[in-house]
Amino acid sequence: MYSKILTLNFPKTKAQKPLVCNLARRFDLEFNILNATILPRKEGKMVLELFGTPKSFKKGIQYLKDNGVRVKNADSDIKRHEDICTHCGACTAVCPTDALSISRPDMTVIFDQKKCSLCELCVRVCPARAMYVRPTQDSFFGE
Ligand code: SF4
Ligand code: SF4
Repeated sequence: MYSKILTLNFPKTKAQKPLVCNLARRFDLEFNILNATILPRKEGKMVLELFGTPKSFKKGIQYLKDNGVRVKNADSDIKRHEDICTHCGACTAVCPTDALSISRPDMTVIFDQKKCSLCELCVRVCPARAMYVRPTQDSFFGE
């Protein structure tokens, strides 16, 4: 299980819906709401810490996005040093979202940041240390 601090921006029409509660009900995720400004018929903003397995995380985030919620990673971003990566493929074996995948027939490793769930598993296994965490305050989650 891992956790991330996320910023959620709710459109006006969704501010009244129990989307966050459904993360627990439907996707077995736990959360701590750190800050929330949600007014009736107005756009809302919430900062929460989310806990769960990579699979639950992915499904829960997709559920929010499908409901028009903009999800930002409040604290970090995953990047790759393109000049350091040797395309060994080790990261593709652990990446739960296929953000890292092998392109055939040239067998190069492609990094699709849009699919990244920020689990940081690739950072731990990359022998070349090409994958790294970049602190940020305002990166869109999975966009
Ligand atoms: S494990 Fe590191 S060096 Fe190997 S393909 Fe992935 S990013 Fe590149
Ligand atoms: S942090 Fe790495 S292993 Fe995890 S989803 Fe993103 S690219 Fe894949």
